Amino acid sequence: MKTATGCTVISHGTAILGTGAAPIPDATVIVRDGKIDYVGPTALAPLIDRSATTINARGGTIMPGLIEAHFHPTYFNVEALEDLDIKYPVEYVTLLAAANAKLALECGYTAARSGGSLFNVDVWLKKAIESDLIPGPRLAASGREICGVGGLMDWNPDYRKIGMDGLVLLINGADEARSAVRKLVKDGIEWVKTYPTGDAASPDVNDHHTLCMTFEEMHAVVATAHNHGLKVTGHCRATEGIKNALRAGYDTLEHGTFVDDEALDMILERNTPVIPALYFELASIERGPEFKLSSRVIDGHRETLEGGAESARRIFKAGGRIGLGGDYGFGWNPHGQYARELTFFVNYVGFTPMETLTCATKTGAEILGREHELGTLETGKLADVLVVEGDVLADISILEDRQRLIAVMQGGVVKAGQLVRPPTI
Ligand SMILES: [Zn+2]
Repeated sequence: MKTATGCTVISHGTAILGTGAAPIPDATVIVRDGKIDYVGPTALAPLIDRSATTINARGGTIMPGLIEAHFHPTYFNVEALEDLDIKYPVEYVTLLAAANAKLALECGYTAARSGGSLFNVDVWLKKAIESDLIPGPRLAASGREICGVGGLMDWNPDYRKIGMDGLVLLINGADEARSAVRKLVKDGIEWVKTYPTGDAASPDVNDHHTLCMTFEEMHAVVATAHNHGLKVTGHCRATEGIKNALRAGYDTLEHGTFVDDEALDMILERNTPVIPALYFELASIERGPEFKLSSRVIDGHRETLEGGAESARRIFKAGGRIGLGGDYGFGWNPHGQYARELTFFVNYVGFTPMETLTCATKTGAEILGREHELGTLETGKLADVLVVEGDVLADISILEDRQRLIAVMQGGVVKAGQLVRPPTI
């Protein structure tokens, strides 16, 4: 991805650094050749030459770009699990994924980690974004997911003779787990996404207390992935699935719903980031009836919402790391609403706005393994910066409204926001 050349000065906004440090009132951020050159009080800012581009933050907020830590570019606001794999051909899903990536950037998300994708769409999406062919967040790709045969992601009955090939590699035993990871190595992914447990979405045979992979399979995934320099994450709701993942050496946990004392200790000991993805649960409860989700499914989501919120609170209070993001791309939780996760964490989980923003920026960059170049406003880092109309610390829900983004900047280049109107659909 190209970075800007020359100098841009953003001034007269409150700077939120993303480090958790106190905000800087009337701050200036100077961007030189795509990197942050100065962050601090406007009164102390160095003099810059007249050729610099200036952006007046107008009493608003200057902050790091948001990082969506569990992004499904190929989920096109589907209404049923079955829509995820066979509703449209992969050619069309690829175009939809490109539109979702553009939308995410327009919403202020300058980086994202894929939580799984149809075929290798996210691998090539990433390539197109990195080559500046299409706009989108800096992406970490996952490609197809791995799940045990008969598990949550194995829903096509055998008589259909179509398997789950486009979306999931189904495995039985450690050998097949290794083989699946090796396929993904060739595909060019960075994260292996697995399904250690079920979900409220599948109450009959794979609910949120069900295990969908064995420890041996999970351990084989991690050993093979780590050997090739890949990281591993997994959809972990049931307590035993969470512990299996931690013992197997998972790099992050998605959801981490039912964390007991022992699991909490293990998370803290390993400093494993957890991405709860909670607004999805609330959306499933509130809008489920409209989308004809059964009452059993909705009741299950109530349970995973309560369990997930409590676990997130406990992990964070005990000093653990929480990443924000989560499963946007269902009809009841569509793309474009990513920042609802942040508002939810403030209003419902009880994080402060500053804590929430740190999770959504700095911790996101740590999850991506790019904390040396992204996630905070610090000298020397890439200028992935948001300029926002209004005081985000006073009302974090401002971030839900992309019309209030003055500038969304990647590497110092303004890619979206009021400064590049008109926005698309
Ligand atoms: Zn997901």
